[in-house]
Amino acid sequence: MLRTPDAREVRVYIGLGGNLEQPVDRIKSARQAIAAIPQVTEAGFSSLYRSAPMGPANQPDYVNAAMAVDTTLAPLALLEQLQTIETAHGRVRLGERWGPRTLDLDILLYGDQNIDSERLQVPHPGIAEREFVLYPLMEIAPELVVPGLGLLKHLVDACPQRGLMEIPNE
Ligand code: ATP
Ligand code: MG
Ligand code: MG
Repeated sequence: MLRTPDAREVRVYIGLGGNLEQPVDRIKSARQAIAAIPQVTEAGFSSLYRSAPMGPANQPDYVNAAMAVDTTLAPLALLEQLQTIETAHGRVRLGERWGPRTLDLDILLYGDQNIDSERLQVPHPGIAEREFVLYPLMEIAPELVVPGLGLLKHLVDACPQRGLMEIPNE
């Protein structure tokens, strides 16, 4: 169906991840929930990837993906919507940084904006070092320029793939 783009829309990239309780299904369900936010239109979705955990090693592998959306929501309003979806997918904040979780939704980029507030830093601070962010993003936005960091292509070239593996489509 054709839709008329809203001039106030901003292209946003979201990183999805999870490593507990059927992570593949959770990621797919999160995608539906994000696309169902009234002021959000899906503009792209990567393959699903499997990656080794960052931080505490005694936890299952992660499933990761990247999603492109167009939205008229302001950055903090979008963050709130994403946190509501995390909670609805069983996310419990246990306090341990980078510990296991059912669903993590991070705003990777919000247009070409640099945001540095207590609740929100964009581009996401980990972006350049995380293979599980860079490779899925490269799949859906190969020409992307990351504000302050340059061409995504160059960041990917500088970041080893480590154990990251594309999950074949079922
Ligand atoms: P990391 O941010 O290193 O990937 P994490 O995703 O596990 O770690 P969370 O527990 O999901 O961290 O979030 C902690 C806080 O990070 C959130 O409450 C949110 O306010 C803040 N935050 C800052 N920048 C962002 C961003 N770009 N996307 C999502 N949350 C962010
Ligand atoms: Mg995260
Ligand atoms: Mg997070």
